Amino acid sequence: MTIPAEHQATLLVVDDMIENIEILNNALCDRYRILFATNGLEALAVVQEQSPDLILLDVIMPGMDGRQVCKQLKQNPLTREIPVIFVTAKDQEEDEEIGLHLGAVDYLTKPVRPGIVKLRVGIHLELKRYRDYLARLSMTDGLTGIANRRCFDEFLETQWLHTVRSEAALSLILADVDHFKAYNDHYGHVAGDRCLQVVATTLANGLTRRTDLAARYGGEEFACVLLGTHHAGALVIAERLRQRVASLRLDHARSPKHSFVTVSMGVATLEPDQHVSPQALIEKADQHLYQAKQMGRNRIVGNQ
Ligand SMILES: [Mg+2]
Repeated sequence: MTIPAEHQATLLVVDDMIENIEILNNALCDRYRILFATNGLEALAVVQEQSPDLILLDVIMPGMDGRQVCKQLKQNPLTREIPVIFVTAKDQEEDEEIGLHLGAVDYLTKPVRPGIVKLRVGIHLELKRYRDYLARLSMTDGLTGIANRRCFDEFLETQWLHTVRSEAALSLILADVDHFKAYNDHYGHVAGDRCLQVVATTLANGLTRRTDLAARYGGEEFACVLLGTHHAGALVIAERLRQRVASLRLDHARSPKHSFVTVSMGVATLEPDQHVSPQALIEKADQHLYQAKQMGRNRIVGNQ
């Protein structure tokens, strides 16, 4: 994975005085796309809709002030990571400290100097880009490029909570490459790695909804989390994935039954009326996967 090239960043400028917005807009509009808001509530709404890359936030505003806005942004996991720079005429050290305690990354005092604003905004966007890159890296499996175990664990945990709250369904598929040890013994580990990469990509591409997640669970085992999907639907998706892998016809000379790579799958579902923990859901899918192996592999087992 490479650090993506700098795209044109979007900035949100929040100030109750239009002329202050104009000053910042003039300083920054040649490099960035600028959104603006003239009060706290409007600012929160724009953030929700447009998720800007950085926010320049006036502290003193009628109604909801900059500090309250910042506090709300930092409490929400979806907006927490957006860097906030406070812009204010209050240049006392104490104010600066309060702002930074609230989670702002920097502080600019009015009257702002365009050269300084440009430089500071540039620095904070660069830092944000590296933070995002590291965050993505820590959630990606190094070999296959799909989500890793940590990403899966976090995703399942948060989506499970959401699913229980919203009384929706959630399904989990655990997939395991059949006779993978024999594959490695026969073809070598480089080919084994290549096999895992192809299977991972096939599973990930086989999930068509953006809300679903395919992850490497460990070794030759993969997990797919399907949001809002009942058991019957999950079985259909699992069957589609199983067929996709089989239809690759990847040579497997040591597979007793087939001459190509296949996967076995276990499916488990958290239905709206149930209270199964994420761990219990994984265990259930794992039991079903075990049964699929026992029953001859290249098959799916779900609820009987
Ligand atoms: Mg103001």
